Amino acid sequence: MDDGKPVWAPHPTDGFQLGRIIDISADSLTIEPLNQRGKNFQAPVNQVFPAEDDVNKHVEDNCSLMYLNEATLLNNVRVRYNKDKIYTFVANILIAVNPYFEIPKLYSPETIKQYHGRSLGTLPPHVYAIADKAYRDMKVLKMSQSIIVSGESGAGKTENTKFVLRYLTTSYGTGQDIDERIVEANPLLEAFGNAKTVRNNNSSRFGKFVEIHFNEKNAVVGGFVSHYLLEKSRICMQGQEERNYHIFYRLCAGAPEDIKEKFHLSSPDCFRYLSRGCTRYFSTKDSDKLIPQNRKSPEHLKAGPLKDPLLDDHADFNRMCVAMKKIGLDDTEKLNMFRVVAGVLHLGNIDFEEAGSTSGGCVLKKTCSQPLEFCAELLGLDEEDLRVSLTTRVMHTTAGGAKGTAIKVPLKVEQASSARDALAKAIYSRLFDHVVTRINQCFPFDSSAHFIGVLDIAGFEYFEHNSFEQFCINYCNEKLQQFFNERILKEEQELYQREGLGVNEVHYVDNQDCIDLVEAKLVGILDILDEENRLPQPSDQHFTETVHGKHKDHFRLTVPRKSKLTVHRNVRDDEGFIIRHFAGAVCYETTRFVEKNNDALHTSLASLVSESKDKFIGELFENSNHSKDTKQKAGKLSFISVGNKFKTQLNILLEKLHSTGSSFVRCVKPNLKMVSHHFEGAQILSQLQCSGMVSVLDLMQGGFPSRAPFHELYNMYKQYMPAKLTRLDPRLFCKRVNTCAGLFSLGLNENDYKFGLTKVFFRPGKFAEFDQIMKSDP
Ligand code: ADP
Ligand code: MG
Repeated sequence: MDDGKPVWAPHPTDGFQLGRIIDISADSLTIEPLNQRGKNFQAPVNQVFPAEDDVNKHVEDNCSLMYLNEATLLNNVRVRYNKDKIYTFVANILIAVNPYFEIPKLYSPETIKQYHGRSLGTLPPHVYAIADKAYRDMKVLKMSQSIIVSGESGAGKTENTKFVLRYLTTSYGTGQDIDERIVEANPLLEAFGNAKTVRNNNSSRFGKFVEIHFNEKNAVVGGFVSHYLLEKSRICMQGQEERNYHIFYRLCAGAPEDIKEKFHLSSPDCFRYLSRGCTRYFSTKDSDKLIPQNRKSPEHLKAGPLKDPLLDDHADFNRMCVAMKKIGLDDTEKLNMFRVVAGVLHLGNIDFEEAGSTSGGCVLKKTCSQPLEFCAELLGLDEEDLRVSLTTRVMHTTAGGAKGTAIKVPLKVEQASSARDALAKAIYSRLFDHVVTRINQCFPFDSSAHFIGVLDIAGFEYFEHNSFEQFCINYCNEKLQQFFNERILKEEQELYQREGLGVNEVHYVDNQDCIDLVEAKLVGILDILDEENRLPQPSDQHFTETVHGKHKDHFRLTVPRKSKLTVHRNVRDDEGFIIRHFAGAVCYETTRFVEKNNDALHTSLASLVSESKDKFIGELFENSNHSKDTKQKAGKLSFISVGNKFKTQLNILLEKLHSTGSSFVRCVKPNLKMVSHHFEGAQILSQLQCSGMVSVLDLMQGGFPSRAPFHELYNMYKQYMPAKLTRLDPRLFCKRVNTCAGLFSLGLNENDYKFGLTKVFFRPGKFAEFDQIMKSDP
């Protein structure tokens, strides 16, 4: 690289900058920036990369660049983004940058038609190309396929997922209801499972795997949605500038007057669950009511022409109702769902105060008789039962051998408040389960030959404070990363072997040890946590100490205090642990891990709701921990493990993924401001690194990333060839091109390409050269 040619050297905000090497020492280079002569700086050798000769050139498949490294990838993506070309291939992997505005015609019906049946690489990179490849692979290989869409919050996963679903149903549907229902299920899922967050105005707070099923003739026959880990804390509390699930606001804003009256609904700021945590969200002035503050801020106005879907809860309500109708929900079902949502809101308004007696317990605040009444009415509960269940807990004494004497233990104010919140979370999350179940009944199928599944699940994340939710998500991402490594890195090498190409093995870090740390039987963190949950008096602190005790010298785990890995040294060693993930070290604070790992309701509350006079509520709580037999053990908190349920779901998902062919879409968020035409290089670079793309480049730089099956080369170039050559079969044709015309004599070196059994393989950048030569030099 020290030949005076430009190089990419690290830059704090852009990711990389162009420079020239002017001095070399043992482990660092002195770089002079090209646009700031004289402002020399030092850079570690392994962070400086060769640049392409023409840095303004961009390519559709990044592998046709001469130098494959993180800097040229970032530059290619940047140059393309500046031309509103948001999609880029790295071989078969698609990178998708969120444009934050609607690019004209990018997803139009005409575009859908164009991609129909076309091989990858023949048209510009597009998520439709990935969808069509999945479909053709399914058809040709007679094998189910999956498309794994990943990226951080706001990167565009859900939008791209929807484009895939629409593409497949439009192109390969039967033109019946089913096709539309698969697409229309989304507004409903999003109403109940999406919320405005600081990172995304329409953030999915759950993961999903949507399968489209096809029959023997490869036409759509039905669909199936699996969902993962709905964020429950949001139901009762939201961060600054964040909102609760859309449905709450939409119902308040859009429900017809008679429904509003029946459900006793008013404006969102009358409900604790809608205003808590976002005090700045609603103005206190009456005239400003219901106008989100940020709507008026200049920051929001900068947000580009794309409509913020949250700004019109009223219109969104109507749109959601249309979707509900389209997927076949009748009014009764719809109202049942709305009634539960309203019930949860009123439940949230119930408040407690000290009883003022010697019991140490609490009572409902005087002002809360109405919320109690409304909640009981809407959820089919007895008002008095609800009051008692919220303020006391039934315990069974075992003292003196007289087992099973039930006594009512009064609850303190905080205990009653958390009982209320637990009930709200349980009801809402069961409602969400119901919504998904109900959606699945809308596109039923008797039998299917194959499916194409699209996975839309949160990417690796770490915040200033990381809790159980991040722990689960990052564990999930470790598993997905392992799958990606296996599919892309391992299979690439196996392909070389199969095709008889002798190339060096590429090493990548296997993260099995990290996965084991979380999910191993007994000693894994999830099992240790379950053990803790089963203790008579579980504590987060004891759990944390056990984790550290069991994994003293684990490479992947350290105590927060002593760690040099993160800045979280203010977390005490018994308050958390640091895990060294594939994408970086994360400090998890274990406060409330025990509570968050338990899905079971308190017995008193559990039996209350399962005996609701309301059929719908009763059904939501069927098959739960409060069925008749577990009620015997009243008094003990039953325990349903959230972590292990997720582990089981995840392993089922991975089994599925393993049994399918796979494609990957890596979504990238261009900036934190959520605006169009703004490329924050360093941010984007870190996303590319986290998603494993950089390892892929390392592999490809050492290998043969461009490849073309003989028959494709034949079809591509026969028009440029003399007739006597085109009469040969594709393989011989290619061989002849090789030997007669000679790739060598065409200007390619014999190390630039290799003949496999079924394909020609090219070194980075060489296919592009070959293509040019062939077309210009018949
Ligand atoms: P994620 O699911 O990764 O959190 P979303 O798919 O919800 O992110 O995207 C966030 C927002 O970004 C969307 O609501 C939309 O406004 C915008 N967006 C994402 N992808 C596109 C796209 N391809 N074209 C236009 N806007 C997009
Ligand atoms: Mg999403």
